[in-house]
Amino acid sequence: MSMQKGLLIVFSGPSGVGKGTIRKLFFDRPELNLAFSISMTTRQPRAGEVDGVDYFFVTEEEFKRAIDNDEFLEYAEFVGSYYGTPKEHVEKLRNEGKNVILEIEVQGALEVREKMPDALTIFIVPPNFEELERRIRGRRSEPEEIILQRLAKAERELKTMGNYKYVICNDDPQLAADLIALVIKRHAETAKIGN
Ligand code: 5GP
Repeated sequence: MSMQKGLLIVFSGPSGVGKGTIRKLFFDRPELNLAFSISMTTRQPRAGEVDGVDYFFVTEEEFKRAIDNDEFLEYAEFVGSYYGTPKEHVEKLRNEGKNVILEIEVQGALEVREKMPDALTIFIVPPNFEELERRIRGRRSEPEEIILQRLAKAERELKTMGNYKYVICNDDPQLAADLIALVIKRHAETAKIGN
């Protein structure tokens, strides 16, 4: 029996909406069979972030070399830093049957959707904009100028939600995680039947 190729799951939403928090609430459920795609970025690590776990932290020169070598499934510039999804790793995991999660911003998400229309696309929205601002400021790790850029960007990003298959509100992270788990499970089952 040949192995079922894993799903490609695009998990997106404005910076600060709580994607990471929600992901941690559903990621370890064994029936979902998930793997996380670790992105490459030129941003500086935040306190507590680990190279090779949260991101591969690289220089701009290294990032540009990866672009030239066609190593990315998608990449984007986001408030002064580059972020990209290394494609080889994603393909390897999917061929091993894993459902792979890309936690990426909207521009990259649209690129993936164009290249891979079968991708399961999920967008997280905040309960309201004030809450999003509170969360972005709550990180306290970035200068005001960057915070303002992230807020302006978030406003534009929210307008793209119509491009996603599922839009889920992060009013209650546990509920959001449960809904996402349900969506992934259903899609994985449908893909199996379709094969
Ligand atoms: P942060 O600096 O807050 O970790 O990430 C900023 C934004 O970039 C977030 O919306 C995050 O999901 C997104 N991001 C992280 N990795 C990638 C990637 O590989 N590609 C794209 N397009 N966005 C990414």
